[in-house]
Amino acid sequence: MKTSVIGFPRIGSNRQLKAATEGYFKNKTTLEELLQTGKELRKAHWLAQKASGIDLIPSNDFSFYDGMLDTAVMLNVVPQRYQELKLSGPAEYFAMARGYQGENGDVKALAMKKWFNTNYHYLVPEIEDDAQIRLAGTKGLDEFSEAKEMGILTKPVVIGPFTFLKLCKFTGKKKAADFAEDIKKAYVLLTAKLTALGAKWIQFDEPGLVTDLTEQDLAFFKNLYQNILSKKGTAQILLQTYFGDIRDCYGEVTALDFDGIGLDLLEGQENLELLQEEGFPKDKVLFAGLVNGKNIWRNHYEKTLSTLKELKKEAHSIVLGTSCSLLHVPFTVENETRLSPAHKKHLAFAMEKLTELAELKKLDCCERPLQKDEYRANEALFQNDRHLENTAVKEKVASLSKQDFTRTPAFAQREKIQKEYFQLPLLPTTTIGSFPQTADVRENRSAYKRRKISKQQYVDFNKQKIKECIELQEKIGLDVLVHGEFERNDMVEYFGENLEGFLFTEKAWVQSYGTRCVKPPIIWGDISRRNPITVDYAAYAQSLTKKRVKGMLTGPVTILNWSFPREDIPLSECAFQIALAIREEVLDLEARGIKIIQIDEAALREKLPLRRADWHKKYLDWAIPAFRLVHSGVRPDTQIHTHMCYSEFGDIIGDIDQMDADVITFEASRSDLSIISALQQCGFRTEVGPGVYDIHSPRVPAVKEIVNALHQMLEKIPKEKLWVNPDCGLKTRGYKETVPSLEHLVQAARQVRGED
Ligand code: GLN
Ligand code: ZN
Repeated sequence: MKTSVIGFPRIGSNRQLKAATEGYFKNKTTLEELLQTGKELRKAHWLAQKASGIDLIPSNDFSFYDGMLDTAVMLNVVPQRYQELKLSGPAEYFAMARGYQGENGDVKALAMKKWFNTNYHYLVPEIEDDAQIRLAGTKGLDEFSEAKEMGILTKPVVIGPFTFLKLCKFTGKKKAADFAEDIKKAYVLLTAKLTALGAKWIQFDEPGLVTDLTEQDLAFFKNLYQNILSKKGTAQILLQTYFGDIRDCYGEVTALDFDGIGLDLLEGQENLELLQEEGFPKDKVLFAGLVNGKNIWRNHYEKTLSTLKELKKEAHSIVLGTSCSLLHVPFTVENETRLSPAHKKHLAFAMEKLTELAELKKLDCCERPLQKDEYRANEALFQNDRHLENTAVKEKVASLSKQDFTRTPAFAQREKIQKEYFQLPLLPTTTIGSFPQTADVRENRSAYKRRKISKQQYVDFNKQKIKECIELQEKIGLDVLVHGEFERNDMVEYFGENLEGFLFTEKAWVQSYGTRCVKPPIIWGDISRRNPITVDYAAYAQSLTKKRVKGMLTGPVTILNWSFPREDIPLSECAFQIALAIREEVLDLEARGIKIIQIDEAALREKLPLRRADWHKKYLDWAIPAFRLVHSGVRPDTQIHTHMCYSEFGDIIGDIDQMDADVITFEASRSDLSIISALQQCGFRTEVGPGVYDIHSPRVPAVKEIVNALHQMLEKIPKEKLWVNPDCGLKTRGYKETVPSLEHLVQAARQVRGED
């Protein structure tokens, strides 16, 4: 049995690529130096995989920014506005990634979207009507040759034509089908060139196949590949899927002339059943994704070996692989100096997963695997329950009843009580929570972390900032104030650090997009709240003003979705544990006089299953209750807000309403306000604050612009239900643009109310 890796992290063991690329953006690194860093990283990663004994090592999985962007450039899919800049290749590439503002013009970047159900974002290529798709780039060929010169025969990896076209945006009249002939030619040529260079296996990534497919999709997929495969040469073609199962196209996939089929047997549990029920072609190689590319726990060899046994009954030839690209896990556990060995031994990041593949390969082909040291050492990891049990929490979750998820009285009654109680003006103005995180704010936090200042000094500084922030908001004239979140580095990490059950890493970075990386906490054990977390700062802020200060929390689903979750208990149980902890915080805030509490669910949509049939069963049926559990205990005159960083919840609008918050704020300024019509159509009852300006840009919106936006909104939303706010937190902005923007926002609200 051979081993295969679908893709490897690109940013480097220490985020070297981030440093080099950002240096290049700031003109501190030359292009040559940047290219050199890329080359060194590729070399190091190939050698590491080779040293681990991986048989099929990927090439062309490297990228300076994003793989979809690379594929677009390879296929000559470069929108006119970038071509007109007349930039060099790399400059044009980064202009598409980040936008361009300079001597040659002023253009926006391509849009960014989440890569299936991960927290990785890809750039959305735009195909214009006059696009000429052809094989224009040589990156895949060059990287294959580069590795070959080092004596490593790699497996080139390319995003397949089906997924590529499915994810593209068509800006004109033409659709994917209009480009079928050209894209087939490009892939045929690419395959021929790679074959000529000596490639033995070529991997086409088609995660698009694990989503719901229409008849038309299926026909299109078949059409593309029948043609490409009919012209293949001696190189073997691997169709690689991941992030789910291929239930809609198993028949088509197995009937086509692929030499290998890659299936995710972890996230795509149903793939095993498909295989068993429908059989697997004898002449094809099964690439079995059994080492988790998305989570960081050690592989359980006993389980994997027994699945392999099952698979062998169906498939004649098996290659053991990762379930998806290792892009979604950090580089190596060895970088962690603060985690105890007792924790570390349970973790496997990318490098450790290579070892697992090698060990599993060895165990699979030896006579008595159970006698081997590798097997025994692995088995020992799973012998005892490693998680810190908290019986109290477990019991609490077990004894939850319907009441715990139900807030009383019902929404309409509460709304009345709250209108009476708060006496807010029509179209109340507020912000999403954070105020600019200026250098002094970050310095204060870091000085405290490095123990350069005392806790008292740290807290005093934050209080001073809160005071200034409250004064500023009063001066601007906002109606519902916030404390500003100066104590928070990150909305999940901050809570994780204050809850029992989380582990934190130092260097476990995962690429989120381009040069941006995140460091998700690890959920290690049962979760509980040690002490009140936000209450003192909130109460302090409230003591400074007669206006209402909104308490600010992160919701359970977001905390869970932005962490590496446990696998020994269901996600729902974990979400309920977090919900109970945050619920205590909500009740404490309320007891200290905080009457408006916002519970952010910025990542609620993120883990929505890829298939519609799974949305409720596998996710919403516990995610929405988890949110309800957090706030169901408050009094009728305590107002619960939530916030989401996007407005693409048209499909689950009813579920969002079922969160039973009193107010929801969300992004709307960049979208076409179509969500507003959707809200109207479904009779959305929660009050809404669709962001009236885009905080992702330093631009200051004019009063008139905001007034217009409000008028548009008021056509569809009753005035009693509309709030006025920016579309997200202000932490990445400066005061220079924040102050006038908020002043304009308040002026606009007053104008529309008829006060001015
Ligand atoms: N309350 C958070 C803030 O304002 C929300 C952040 C977010 O939605 N990502 O920063
Ligand atoms: Zn947001």
